Amino acid sequence: MGLLKISEPSNKQDSGRKRFVVGIDLGTTNSLIATVINGKPETIPISAKKDILPSVVHYNKDGKVMVGLEAYEHLISNPANTINSVKRCLGKSLDDINSTNTASRYQLSSSVNSSNNQHQIPCFKTDAGLITPVEVSAVILNKLKSCANHQYKEDIEGAVITVPAYFDDTQRKATKDAAAIAGIPLLRLINEPTAAAVAYGYNEIDNNNQTVAVYDLGGGTFDVSILKIEDGIFEVLATAGNNNFGGDDIDLLVASWIAKTANISMQNLNDQDYRLLIDTAKQAKESLNKVNSIDIKFKHWSGLLTLETFDQLIAVAIDETIKLFAKAITDAKTTITDIDNVILVGGSTRINQVKTKITNFCKQKPLDSLDPDRVVAIGAAMHADILAGNNNTDMLLLDIIPLSLGIETMGGIMEKIIERNSKIPATTSQYFTTYQDDQNAIIINVYQGDRELVKDNRSLATFTLRDIPAMAAGRAKIKVTFQLDADGVLSVTAIEESTKKQSYIEVKPSYGLTDEAVLNMINASIDYAEQDHNQRIIQQQIVESSYLINSINKLINTNKDSISKEDNKKINKLITDLQSACDSNSKDEIIRLKKDLETIGESIAKKQIKLAIEGSKLSDFEEQQ
Ligand code: ADP
Ligand code: MG
Repeated sequence: MGLLKISEPSNKQDSGRKRFVVGIDLGTTNSLIATVINGKPETIPISAKKDILPSVVHYNKDGKVMVGLEAYEHLISNPANTINSVKRCLGKSLDDINSTNTASRYQLSSSVNSSNNQHQIPCFKTDAGLITPVEVSAVILNKLKSCANHQYKEDIEGAVITVPAYFDDTQRKATKDAAAIAGIPLLRLINEPTAAAVAYGYNEIDNNNQTVAVYDLGGGTFDVSILKIEDGIFEVLATAGNNNFGGDDIDLLVASWIAKTANISMQNLNDQDYRLLIDTAKQAKESLNKVNSIDIKFKHWSGLLTLETFDQLIAVAIDETIKLFAKAITDAKTTITDIDNVILVGGSTRINQVKTKITNFCKQKPLDSLDPDRVVAIGAAMHADILAGNNNTDMLLLDIIPLSLGIETMGGIMEKIIERNSKIPATTSQYFTTYQDDQNAIIINVYQGDRELVKDNRSLATFTLRDIPAMAAGRAKIKVTFQLDADGVLSVTAIEESTKKQSYIEVKPSYGLTDEAVLNMINASIDYAEQDHNQRIIQQQIVESSYLINSINKLINTNKDSISKEDNKKINKLITDLQSACDSNSKDEIIRLKKDLETIGESIAKKQIKLAIEGSKLSDFEEQQ
């Protein structure tokens, strides 16, 4: 596949005026906006002293909406009207949200239907009414936008917004929707680890022939990506992660420890006390990278949390991130010794144990010279600068998809069209055909996942290609094209080549795949690889058998007179045996019987051809073809 250039030098503005574009890190916990000024990337202030906006939104009865620190202050006193960690709900169904262990205690309902009316979008019940996660995200984006407009007295012309590498199609679409509601012209969504590597690529990393690992542990997500940087080209080789693990979960571990030590039931705490407990835990956690123990006070209880106890509490969770790190390295078909640099991203990488475990695992000290809180926004701003043509750099950027995309073929088999870890944007086509004579429509079922059978993968969309002209089975030539745009959003086209009949679908957001589900699907595809492969072969054999039986029956019907009784009996017996072998999934038996049936079918066909050449049965011969 050819490399995709972000911009050509000729795209530069002739007037010399640079376009005002920004990079936005729309984080679970904190959000930032940055831009490039005189060639230097910098974050844009949110208030007099701060450039980090807590991703918190507060709604009150009078219709007033607060965002950031102002909203954060209501977290303890008014949790139902104060939404934090909204990113964990973005593009998800109510069930997905309820099944994840978030530190938030919102009142959720699901009264708003999505565009296809099949799935319900969850809403927060607030004093200002029902609010969707997309709307909450839009409020955050809008605040960032107005800070930038205010600072530079200019409207934003474009923005690059970052998303976790593991965000699926629906979550990416929800992010795009939020940008649209906030009135932000979106240049592109890029993966957070990729943005971080772009930021370092500009400063510290030798841009030639480097393999870089990006370890990003934020408030709500964990991502690890392996990137190759070659001659200024950034290519993501593989990603792994868990969108349901981050600093919030570490807060919960510490909060549970406090509750247990103080003999308090977390379940019985009211909303305010619960929030207070989480906040106390978070503060304690954040001090433990500078001190060896910390005094904690919660209501009437006080106690000491030592670094040693804290390390024990989080050890299993941090080990899990290292396992995912190892998996990404394997997926990238590389080894630890090939990793030239490790980049740390996200506030939680300040935890000493995280740094130590990464250093031990990678046998090198990770890069942390850029602030782990700001590096993603900085990289996004640099990327926006390149896309806008402000920057005469040769830097290129390629992204990948986390799960394969494909369609269902006969027998419930997943035919992958775009493989997992393929670079995006991408366009791939494959040809398919009809299964039955005179089949005038085909249903295209689009799936995402890496198992061999569609029942184990996730259904994304279904559409029908109609008005296929009457033809013998296997004659129609249907070209199915999958097109993934630069943001990872999929559209599928099916076209029948002889009639040019065409059908198209853009995969619309339904409910999102939970992040665990994405990971589980990848893990399952590895665990079940052998079993799935075997099952796929059986399914293929069953489909081929049924096709063969159809053709043989047709052959017999059209040549009744010239087939001997003995052959007829033999064929019928083979067909019955083959059918029962298919019913019992006996692979070897199916293969053997199919071969026998093919042999006898061929010998009959040969006889017919001979007769046809002699002219006696020419019409039959033509009909058969
Ligand atoms: P996100 O990308 O999810 O918005 P950030 O990168 O802003 O997250 O990281 C926020 C997380 O970092 C929070 O869970 C916060 O508690 C954690 N964090 C910040 N500083 C520290 C610290 N010194 N020690 C441990 N965790 C920290
Ligand atoms: Mg982040």
